[in-house]
Amino acid sequence: MKYWNPYTETLPPEQLDAIEFAYFKEYLAYAKTHSGMYREKLKDINVADIKTLEDVRKIPFTYKDDLRVQQEREPQNFPYGALLGVDIAEVSAFRQTSGTTGKPVYVPESYESWQWRVESWCHILWMAGFRPRHRVFLPVGYNVYVAFWECHYACEKVGCEVVPGGALDTIGRVNKIIEVKANAMGCTPTYGLNIAEEAMKMGIDPKTMGIERMICAGEPLPEATRKRLEELYGAKVYDHIGGTEICGWAAMCEEQKGLHIIEPFFLIEILDRETLSKEVAEGEIGVVVITPLGRHSFPMIRFNTNDMVVKGKGGCACGRTSRKIMEVVGRADDLRKIRGVLFSPKTVEQFIREEFPEVVEFEILVERKGIMDELTLRTELQPSVGKDKAEEIKARLKERAKVKTNLTMKVTLEPEGALPRYTLKAKRFKDLRGVK
Ligand SMILES: [Zn+2]
Repeated sequence: MKYWNPYTETLPPEQLDAIEFAYFKEYLAYAKTHSGMYREKLKDINVADIKTLEDVRKIPFTYKDDLRVQQEREPQNFPYGALLGVDIAEVSAFRQTSGTTGKPVYVPESYESWQWRVESWCHILWMAGFRPRHRVFLPVGYNVYVAFWECHYACEKVGCEVVPGGALDTIGRVNKIIEVKANAMGCTPTYGLNIAEEAMKMGIDPKTMGIERMICAGEPLPEATRKRLEELYGAKVYDHIGGTEICGWAAMCEEQKGLHIIEPFFLIEILDRETLSKEVAEGEIGVVVITPLGRHSFPMIRFNTNDMVVKGKGGCACGRTSRKIMEVVGRADDLRKIRGVLFSPKTVEQFIREEFPEVVEFEILVERKGIMDELTLRTELQPSVGKDKAEEIKARLKERAKVKTNLTMKVTLEPEGALPRYTLKAKRFKDLRGVK
């Protein structure tokens, strides 16, 4: 079977629009009556007045910061507060955001809402070619974070066999993959690279480990990193985009060109950055605003993700009719001004993964020295790289960084193991300006 849902995945876009709009109206009415946050936020919105997709733009956005405030209200629903959309007795799982940009948001899952999420994720896995013959190793402790729980349950639902690899160190995980002959994997891109690095240190070529496909989660996946993982493992590597608040909402198909929005699970708006009031044209960059249409335990209307994407064209060689996004440009919050130049850490990751396979790990620090911002690119090279070669790489890194970012960086070579290795969300960019 080529599609997970042959009916919805091949519907004409106009029909998908109609279904999503109908779901949206129902969902709006639900949120307004069942969630304390939306009872307040939507008090001036009459559901009957929302007659077209254009009318949807009249409804206020929901921002991450709103969520933090709202969960402090309604103490009877602790710890979810006014975010909760069902009776608290219906909550069957607790999840939370990572809190990298502030206090975590606590996310209640009812069994029904969780199943909706899992179904959306089944589309992600099926598009990435995960099939019942796959034995999927998940080399992470899922803890309270959502992505790998979704992956785990969706693997079971599509018929794969899951091997949870939480309570092992990286060497233990390499050994487990080989021991049980796992042939697929789900992990963060960073940790995928770390496992390959560890395997090579153990004298094992990652290509011989038998991993034939991989789904990445938890971090952005620049194209160069995706290709690097494919080379290292001799595997097909797929990306998806999601978030704790809204679920995985777009994923790569076998064409590996852009990501399909999982329709009709979401109402996705890609809005012009300046006004946030009109949909951008195909090929343009816009901010993603998402309404997950089946999340009752945690209603979310027009969640402004702050993620910027390039809107894709309709139609794909795979035959799916859902709309696509071509690229995740980054998070509006990730862009920093350094010495007056707009800087995106993703640019650095991109050229390092593309041009410097010897770099095992890196991080970027920005500090204020006097009145100047100073950038340092700390790098760790493969232990086999000799001293002369290392100096040559260092000089080349400095030169390429200048060309790619328009900023001069100090480059340092760190000893083996000096930089942190991340299992979940990597934090390679450290802005220490204002930190004493
Ligand atoms: Zn496709």
